[in-house]
Amino acid sequence: MTELPDNILHLPQYQVLGCKSTDDEMHFQVDVPDPIACEECGVQGEFVRFGKRDVPYRDLPIHGKRVTLWVVRRRYTCRACKTTFRPQLPEMVDGFRMTLRLHEYVEKESFNHPYTFVAAQTGLNEKTVRDIFNARAEFLGRWHRFETPRILGIDELYLNKRYRCILTNIEERTLLDLLATRRQDVVTNYLMKLKDRQKVEIVSMDMWNPYRAAVKAVLPQARIVVDKFHVVRMANDALERVRKGLRKELKPSQSRTLKGDRKILLKRAHEVSDRERLIMETWTGAFPQLLAAYTTKHKKKAPTAKVSPFYKKTIGYGLPDFAEELNYGVDLSTI
Ligand SMILES: [Zn+2]
Repeated sequence: MTELPDNILHLPQYQVLGCKSTDDEMHFQVDVPDPIACEECGVQGEFVRFGKRDVPYRDLPIHGKRVTLWVVRRRYTCRACKTTFRPQLPEMVDGFRMTLRLHEYVEKESFNHPYTFVAAQTGLNEKTVRDIFNARAEFLGRWHRFETPRILGIDELYLNKRYRCILTNIEERTLLDLLATRRQDVVTNYLMKLKDRQKVEIVSMDMWNPYRAAVKAVLPQARIVVDKFHVVRMANDALERVRKGLRKELKPSQSRTLKGDRKILLKRAHEVSDRERLIMETWTGAFPQLLAAYTTKHKKKAPTAKVSPFYKKTIGYGLPDFAEELNYGVDLSTI
């Protein structure tokens, strides 16, 4: 740590005058500096203070406690133009009586949690949370729903006993559509109707061939990228098949041990402990087919993979461990 914050609230334009804390609430008394110029005529330094009152503004919770900032709000009268004004507060959303950062927080959290939860956490009432959510949802709906993505994600979802094709805008992290099936003709049809479909530059998908065929036919300009999650899963499956095939050649005791050691074989080299490495080398030494399968699986990762910066934007894209895996995509557009 090299720097101290400007003040305890990280709101450099405010001066913290005092703080009071209860079991679940924190109250701060804060002051704002005098304005520099009249908001009406722009003349500087020609105003007099004219009445003040403390106005509560909600802020982000601190240490799990709800936070209220009591802002000393003053009115001023300008000597030059005689108007009276109350200066705009920095870092605040006046209509909602809260800090900008709390407003952004509620916009995000209200998508992930019930309104009552967000309300209880922040001290806002439920209606305020709902209003913020609605405004945000309307904004997103207006701007993102029909926009053809630059990076299109095609995946599937198993829903109501059948696979459905799910289309996403990877950069915006928004859902484009959910189709009734994952059949090639249905996907092709959908892509045909996409407005300005030549704008799609990259399509990220799993290895379901009908998707690839549909994209090649309708979006010939787009590069097809298979995300690493799917590649690794396929390699794991291949390794498993080799292992199962080998079992037939083993004595029953060896077979049982191999089953137990399966997890080690699925790990990556740097994740393996010394003891595990010994077990692995014993197996791969005894059975060269297994070594070959293992090497193929673990080679898949580095040399052929290309760094795909857009994966940085897809954290949480339906995969719990994606954050760690996000640096690789395998480019199959040349295959
Ligand atoms: Zn003035």
